[in-house]
Amino acid sequence: MPRKINRILVVDSSEVARTIIVRVLNEVMPDTEITTCGSVQEGCEWLQRQRFDLITTALMLADKDGLEFSRHVRASSHHRYTPIIVVSGDADTRLLREGFAAGVTDYFDKSLGYQAFASFIQNFMQRNSGLVGRILYVEDSQLTATLMLRLMEHHGLQVIHTTHAEEALELLQDTAVGGPRAAESFDIVITDFFLQGRLTGGDLLHAIRTRFHYSQQEMPVLVLTGAEADERQIEVFHAGANDFVAKPIVEEILMARIRSLLLIKQQFAALKRQTESMHRLAITDSLTRVYNRRYLLDHGEQFIADRSNYPVAAALLDIDHFKRINDNLGHIAGDRVLESLGQLLLDRLPDNAMAVRFGGEEFAVLVPCCQSSNAHSCAEGLRREIEALKPAGVNITVSIGVASNQNRPEMTLTQLLNSADQALYAAKARGRNMVCA
Ligand code: GH3
Ligand code: MG
Ligand code: MG
Ligand code: MG
Repeated sequence: MPRKINRILVVDSSEVARTIIVRVLNEVMPDTEITTCGSVQEGCEWLQRQRFDLITTALMLADKDGLEFSRHVRASSHHRYTPIIVVSGDADTRLLREGFAAGVTDYFDKSLGYQAFASFIQNFMQRNSGLVGRILYVEDSQLTATLMLRLMEHHGLQVIHTTHAEEALELLQDTAVGGPRAAESFDIVITDFFLQGRLTGGDLLHAIRTRFHYSQQEMPVLVLTGAEADERQIEVFHAGANDFVAKPIVEEILMARIRSLLLIKQQFAALKRQTESMHRLAITDSLTRVYNRRYLLDHGEQFIADRSNYPVAAALLDIDHFKRINDNLGHIAGDRVLESLGQLLLDRLPDNAMAVRFGGEEFAVLVPCCQSSNAHSCAEGLRREIEALKPAGVNITVSIGVASNQNRPEMTLTQLLNSADQALYAAKARGRNMVCA
């Protein structure tokens, strides 16, 4: 279970300093429980009593010094890997020389002030917070599995364990993008190299790369190997592993590898999300949320040429006397009208249709597999809905021109749109608020 509440132990011999530290830390990290004490001895007692996520210590303490305390922290079985921050007025040479060996993780210069200290700690906690991720773990040895599960779950990871590669492949299949259980997909795979059953960890790895086509960024794989020769490691890398950890497992090494693979995965996912959202922005009209004109010009030709879309009906919709709405109610109200009309098109048109903002108050629609005999009545239905819409309380009507490529399948996008435009012109000329084909 991910840890929600962090615990920090603050060791400082000055009671005033302790009070200030608790106050500033509570302000920026209200979810964090802060324990304070003034001596190495008290600090050691706390280490036995509970587990902390971060420890800060002054260099000069009531009884001994901070580096000595740091050694005690490292010797405590629960805190072997807990970050230790030394808070001191001057980074003296002894700290620089001995601090690392004593297990100190970082150093904060107290002369920067307590507010800076609070943001430093907050930052540090964010960077070193518990691991978050869903792991598919394939291991046939019950003993190793028990140890690994305990380690990983202890660090906040969600682990799904299987004993066979075959079972792992099924899980990967079910949770693949677009699959029935895509929401339960994994962030990384950890597999033992030797597995009972027909498939080894190497086979699993090979399938992940070649059958599922997952790149090393998309699905990082960590392989657990025995203490074998370099050849096995080379083999593991050739099969597409991101990294390996040799057994017997060392907690800190395992966690460092998992952390870096999760980071790769998270950065890949963030990049993918960003690329998708940039793409969406580039093809969407920001006011009406339908496609923009550029999208139609880039993809419309292909859309009507696609045999599986035949016959395609095209419609051009133009709001009647829109200028008056702007003139009478203001441009903002005009914008709200356009926005609502865009939403109506998105709601009403089938998912495989293409709705586009063609110009100011003019929309283009391409509907695939629409018989020309149907196109007119569909457009008429749309016209009536728009008349009843009254966006922002404004009465609006549209004129619609409809065209189809049913009789001339070789028609280009330009020809189809020109034809719809002529029909639109006719609708306007005949008095507006009507559909012409
Ligand atoms: P018609 O019935 O002949 O189509 O008359 P109309 O007033 O709708 O046509 P016209 O082409 O004369 O005016 C279109 C108006 O649409 C003019 C322009 O200011 C307005 N317009 C274009 N884009 C936007 C926009 O993004 N927001 C708003 N509020 N108005 C826009
Ligand atoms: Mg094995
Ligand atoms: Mg108009
Ligand atoms: Mg117009």
